[in-house]
Amino acid sequence: MAEAPKYEMPKAYEPQKVEQKWYKFWLDKGYFTPKIDPKKKPFVIIMPPPNVTGELHIGHALTATLEDIMVRWHRMRGEPTLWLPGVDHAGIATQVVVEQMLAKEGLDRHKLGREKTRERIRQWAESRRQIIAHQHQRLGASCDWSRERYTLDEGPSRAVRTAFVRLYEKGLIYRGERIINWCPRCATALSDLEVDHKDIQGHLYYVRYPLEGSKAFITVATTRPETILGDTAVAVNPRDKRFKMMVGKKVILPAVKRVIPIIADEAVDPDFGTGAVKITPAHDPVDFDIAQRQGLPLVNILNPDVTMNENAEPYVGLDRFQCRQAILADLEKDGLLVKVEPYSHSVGHCMRCQVIIEPLASKQWFINTKPLAKPAIDAVLDGRIAIIPPRFTKVYLNWMESIRDWCISRQLWWGHRIPVWYCRGCGELTVAVDEPKACAKCGSANIEQDPDVLDTWFSSALWTHSTLGWPDDTEDLGYFYPTTVMETGYDILFFWVARMIMMGLEDTGDIPFSTVYLHGLLRDEKGEKMSKVKGNVLDPLDTIDRYGTDALRFALSTDISPGNDIKLTAPRLEAGRNFANKLWNATRFVVRSLEPEGANIEFKRGELPVEDRWILSRLSSTVSTVTRLMDNFQFGEALRQLHDFIWGDFCDWYIEFAKIRLGSGEKPSPMPVLVRVLETSLRMLHPFMPFVTEELWQNLKRRLPSDWQKLESIMLAAYPEAEEKAIDPEAERLMESIIEIIHAIRNARAEHKVESRRWIEAQVYAGELTPAITAYSPAIETLARARPITFLGSREEAPPSKNVLALVLKSSEVVIPMESMVDLQAERKRLQQEIEQSQAQIVSLEARLKDKAFLSKAPASVVNKEREKLAVRKDKLERLKQQLTRFQA
Ligand SMILES: [Zn+2]
Ligand SMILES: [Zn+2]
Repeated sequence: MAEAPKYEMPKAYEPQKVEQKWYKFWLDKGYFTPKIDPKKKPFVIIMPPPNVTGELHIGHALTATLEDIMVRWHRMRGEPTLWLPGVDHAGIATQVVVEQMLAKEGLDRHKLGREKTRERIRQWAESRRQIIAHQHQRLGASCDWSRERYTLDEGPSRAVRTAFVRLYEKGLIYRGERIINWCPRCATALSDLEVDHKDIQGHLYYVRYPLEGSKAFITVATTRPETILGDTAVAVNPRDKRFKMMVGKKVILPAVKRVIPIIADEAVDPDFGTGAVKITPAHDPVDFDIAQRQGLPLVNILNPDVTMNENAEPYVGLDRFQCRQAILADLEKDGLLVKVEPYSHSVGHCMRCQVIIEPLASKQWFINTKPLAKPAIDAVLDGRIAIIPPRFTKVYLNWMESIRDWCISRQLWWGHRIPVWYCRGCGELTVAVDEPKACAKCGSANIEQDPDVLDTWFSSALWTHSTLGWPDDTEDLGYFYPTTVMETGYDILFFWVARMIMMGLEDTGDIPFSTVYLHGLLRDEKGEKMSKVKGNVLDPLDTIDRYGTDALRFALSTDISPGNDIKLTAPRLEAGRNFANKLWNATRFVVRSLEPEGANIEFKRGELPVEDRWILSRLSSTVSTVTRLMDNFQFGEALRQLHDFIWGDFCDWYIEFAKIRLGSGEKPSPMPVLVRVLETSLRMLHPFMPFVTEELWQNLKRRLPSDWQKLESIMLAAYPEAEEKAIDPEAERLMESIIEIIHAIRNARAEHKVESRRWIEAQVYAGELTPAITAYSPAIETLARARPITFLGSREEAPPSKNVLALVLKSSEVVIPMESMVDLQAERKRLQQEIEQSQAQIVSLEARLKDKAFLSKAPASVVNKEREKLAVRKDKLERLKQQLTRFQA
C-alpha cells in the first residue's frame, strides 16, 4: 500500500489568512458566552467602555490585550468567565465633535434645535459603535458580544434615573448655587476633573479703592481686574494690624461706583498682594465661601458667552478680555491703577476645547460625595478591594479624603436628561424614574423637564452594575456581581474607578470589583506620551496589518509591569512577529515528523534520555512560574519567561537534540516528548497570542490520535498545570553543562569568524559530570561542530596553554587549539595590522585632545565624544594585544 503523502503546513505564518477565520469560528461556536454554574465562582471583567467619539487607539489595544489575557486564562482554568463589552456615549466629547461637523456645514446646534441635533449625534455615534466593535474583534477580544451594552441603552438609562432618584430622596443630590467651572465655548458647567490647569504668565494689578467720605484708599491686588465689577466687599485678615482701623468702613468700587464694606475674615492671606483682597463671590470659589459665611450678596457680571451682562454697567456687551482692557484704561485715567507686576499663576482650561474656563456662580445639580466616599475608603482600607500596583492606594485614599461635591449637571444635549420636572403651577419639583404626567405636589400638568443632561461619568459610575441589569434583580446581577477585576489606565482612577466604588456600594451594598489593575500609559521610543497632537500615535489596525495581531499583543504585554508606562517600539513589534514565526517553524517541524497515520505519543518517564527529562522538567517549572506570575498580575514577566522557555530551551536546544535522534533512528523516539512540550506550550501561550496558537494547535491536533479530535479548540482546552514528578534537578544540571559547553564552543567559533563548514577540535574537562557528558559527545560534536571532542580525566591532561583558547565555564572547562580555528600565521599578521592601525588612531586622538585651539573652540559635548572615542580605542588595543599572545609561535 502506498504511503499517504506527508501533511505539509505552509512554510511561513501569514496572520491575515488565519486571524479572522478563527475569530469567526470562536464567535459562531459561542465560546465567549459563559455558562452560569451556581457551583462555580465566576471570573468577571466589565470592559471600560471606549468613547463612541472615535476609533480605537493603541491605548484601547492595550486594555483589550490585558483583559483578554486574563479572561482567556481564567476560561481555560474552567471558571465561568464573563467579559462584558460596551461603549460610552461620552456626552461632551461627542457633542463637541458633532458640533465641529455642523460648523463645517454652516450650521450650529441652536439653529438646528435640540431634537435634530440629538438625531445627528445619534446617527454618527451609531456608525462609530460598529467600527469599535469590529476593531475589538481584530484584536482577538473574546468578550461576550451577546451582552454588549451602550450607556444610552434603555437598561443603563433606567439605572441612571433610578440612581439619581434614590440619591435625591436620600438628600445626597441637591440643586444649589455654587461656583462651577464654566466653559464658554462648550457653554456648559464642567467638573473639577475636566479642567486642565496650566501656568500662565499674566499680571498682578494693584488697584486703589477710595474710602467713602475720605481721601484715603485701600489697595487690592488682582489678576482679573474685570471682576472688580462683581465685587461685594474688600476683606482683610482680622489679625492684620495694618488694617485694624479700616474694618467696618466702606469703599467706593471703581468704575461702577457701588459702595461695598471692608470686612475681616480668617481666610484672607495677609501675605498675598497688599494684605487686603477684593471679594467677588459670583466668580471665585474661595470668595464664594467667604460670602456665604459673611452673608454677602452675589453679583454675577457675565453672560453664558462670557460677555459682560447688565450688572457690569458701563461695560455691558464687551467680551471678558476686552472688558479687562477697557477697565484698566479707565483705572489708569482716574489714577487708581497703582502698579502692574508680571505674575505667573495657574489658569483653568477646558479639557475638551482648551478655552480658558470662567469660575461662575450658577444653579447646578450636585452630589454630596462625602457620605459616599466613607464606605469607599473603608472598602480599600479593609482589603475588600485591592489596588495594583499598591502604590496607587495612597493616591486613591488622599483624593477620597479631600473629595469635593461633584457637579453632575451639564448644559448639553447629548446624554441622560436629568429626571427632574419643574411645575409652572406651584414651583415645586418632581423627581421620578419614569416621565410624570403631572406635578407630584399639586397635580398640575403644566410641568417641564430640566433641560440639562448628566455628566457622562455619572452613567460610567454605574457601569459595573447597570450592565448586569441593576436596578432589576436579574440572574446576571446575582451571579456576576461583584465583578472580579477592573482593569484600566491609572489616569482615570478618580474620574471613573473611585466613582464606581462609591456608586457600586451605594446602589448594591456591595463592592463593584475586588481588584483594580492599573496599567501604564503608552509612550513612543523617545518616552513621549502617544497623542494625536504629537503625531506619534500608532494605529492599531495598521499595526495589525503589518505585524499581525499576536505580534501587537506580544509587544503590548511582554516585559510590562502594572502602573508603569510602556514604550511601544518597532523592535518590540518585530520581536513579537519573530516569536510567532519561531513557533510556526517549530510546530511545522514537529507536524512533518509525525507519522502520517497519527503518532504514538505516549512515553514512559523512566526510559527517557536526559534531554527529554530535562525539557519536561523545565516545562513543568515554567508552568508553575507562569501560573504564579499570572496569579500576581505580573503578565509581562509571565510572557517573558514563556518566551524564553519556548524560544531558548525548546526551539534552540531541545528540538536540535531531537533532530539528531530522529536522524539516527535512536530509540526511544523524541516525538512523544516533542508533542507534549509543544502542545503544552501552545496552551500556555494561548491567552497572550490566541491566533497563532489556535492555528498551530489545530495543525498539531489533526495528526494526533483520535481521542484528541473531540476537543474543538485550544480555547476550550485546560490551562497547563505543573507536574511535580517531572521536576528533575539531576537532568537539569547535566543538560545545563552540556548546553554551556556547546554554547562556549559556538561563541569561540563566532569570535574567531570560523567558517560554518569547518570542524574544529576541543578538549573538555567536566569533573564528576565527565562520564555522563561523554555519553553525549556525538550530539555535542554535531551541535558545536567540533570533532573530535576529547574528554579529559583531569585538568592536567590539557595541553600546555600556548596557542590555545581556554574557557572556564560554570561546571566545566573547554580548551580549543587555536590552529584548529584559524591560520596562525595569517591571524598573527591580521592582528599586528589591526594593532598598528589602533595605535595610529590613538596617537591622532591624543594630539587632538592636546590641541588648545580645538579645546577652546569645540563645544564640550564634542570634546567629550573625542575623549570617549580615545577610551574605546585604548580598550580595543589592549584586547588585540591580549589576543596576539595566543598566537605566539
Ligand atoms: Zn470647552
Ligand atoms: Zn405643582
